[in-house]
Amino acid sequence: MSTAIVWFRRDLRLADNPALESAADRHDKLVLLYIEAESATEPWSAGAASRWWLHHSLERFDADLAKLGQSLTLKRGPALQCLRECLAESGADAVYWNRMYDPAARQRDARIKEELRGDGIAVESFAANLLFEPWQIRTGKGGPFRVFTPFWRACQRQAEIAEPLPAPASLPSRPDSSVKSVTLDALNLMPEIGWYDGLARMWQPGEHAAHARLADFCDTALANYADGREVPSVAGTSRLSPHLHFGEISPRSVWHRVGQHSLLQRSQPGAEAFLREIGWREFAHHVLFHYPHTPDQPLNSKYADFPWRENHGDLLSAWQRGRTGFPIVDAGMRELWHTGWMHNRVRMIVASLLVKNLRVPWTAGAGWFWDTLVDADLANNTLGWQWAAGCGADAAPYFRIFNPVRQGEKFDPDGSYVRSWIPELADLPDRWIHKPWEAPDRVRPDPDLYPAPVVDLATSRKAALEALARLKKYGSG
Ligand SMILES: Cc1cc2nc3c(=O)[nH]c(=O)nc-3n(C[C@H](O)[C@H](O)[C@H](O)COP(=O)(O)OP(=O)(O)OC[C@H]3O[C@@H](n4cnc5c(N)ncnc54)[C@H](O)[C@@H]3O)c2cc1C
Repeated sequence: MSTAIVWFRRDLRLADNPALESAADRHDKLVLLYIEAESATEPWSAGAASRWWLHHSLERFDADLAKLGQSLTLKRGPALQCLRECLAESGADAVYWNRMYDPAARQRDARIKEELRGDGIAVESFAANLLFEPWQIRTGKGGPFRVFTPFWRACQRQAEIAEPLPAPASLPSRPDSSVKSVTLDALNLMPEIGWYDGLARMWQPGEHAAHARLADFCDTALANYADGREVPSVAGTSRLSPHLHFGEISPRSVWHRVGQHSLLQRSQPGAEAFLREIGWREFAHHVLFHYPHTPDQPLNSKYADFPWRENHGDLLSAWQRGRTGFPIVDAGMRELWHTGWMHNRVRMIVASLLVKNLRVPWTAGAGWFWDTLVDADLANNTLGWQWAAGCGADAAPYFRIFNPVRQGEKFDPDGSYVRSWIPELADLPDRWIHKPWEAPDRVRPDPDLYPAPVVDLATSRKAALEALARLKKYGSG
């Protein structure tokens, strides 16, 4: 009789789970383990919104396992210690997991693999959370890519992406010996303050909800995705990002579902544009894998000495609270606070205002997103912020500064997105909805209700360009 442990991390799903499938094929008894080991991923342990998601995701996963006569074993503490405890309690002699790619998790996993093998335990890890392993895609010279388009072309030259594995119809049972588990509440994942009611209204974590969301997206928005993805007032994107982050659905499942749908429904351009975004997710993981210092340091080292604004605390706080006086920015920041998510176009606009017009370091913005996004993901967040700051892979040049008024007029022309998040501006005519400070007195909102802009756009743009010029003159790169 052989027993194995499957260590779940960011793969909280039954379908297309190669670690689970291999362990179930080869062993008579299984312990399905989740370890809450915060310190292992510091300083990037999960933020408040992610912890809310994780709590519910674990709850749903356990309910799905119960239908197969299994359950999750939960432990809290350093991962190696918890694994050893579980091995001793269950008599297991093998551990399986699906790979993670964040720098701290990689280091931890390599150490655990070595230690457990030293104890005589069989350890096997699997590729499950990306379409391509980050080391698999190489430039002609054998190095990593720093530009998306050639990276994506190189991905497309790889062999066909394997079909996802089906969810198991049955699973080996738990061992007869008693394996200690703490309760879900004892993991202390739920934030103390009740701000998360809005998250609960918008999201349903879990594998079933992820597949339902993908099916709904294919039926309603995929065909028009290429254009629809730019309009924040409509549900034109998939909102799969937290499900993908927690591994409730695999990128292979997304790839094949979208491919089949596009063949049947002739939604080819939408499908191509959408799968390209899945490609950006691959690229973000590729860059983080090869440049593990980038969550804190710019990829382009020349920007390490960028002259950020001193004493920027009040500006950062106005940005966080959605009170900068720029409606499209404030709407985005309020959407983030209330739902744990923000539209991609608006993420780019709010990030540009913060790092360029306000000259607040991009790491401060990345930190706020980390705490408040339900899809906070070290690879995607780092790439997004370094892109906005002009210092990362395939980044927008620093001198290209988004004008939030023009961006608002282009992507939210009737102001419906702004009005849905800023009730103070509900009655402002369209003409001034993205620049209320120019509205005549009779319709301009009371500044006590909605603030005047925290910076002048033209002056702050000039100051940002001067800062860039100083960096070029005195910088190291
Ligand atoms: C400053 C900034 C910070 C960001 N932080 C994160 C983050 O922490 N987590 C996160 O998942 N995404 C992040 N993004 C990328 C992007 O905004 C989100 O992935 C997207 O808005 C999620 O919504 P969706 O699932 O509806 O996307 P869709 O348009 O439906 O795209 C499908 C999937 O592709 C991936 N994807 C889409 N765009 C990108 C992108 N630009 N980079 C990498 N992957 C992408 C996501 O997994 C997404 O779920 C950030 C972007 C910026 C500009």
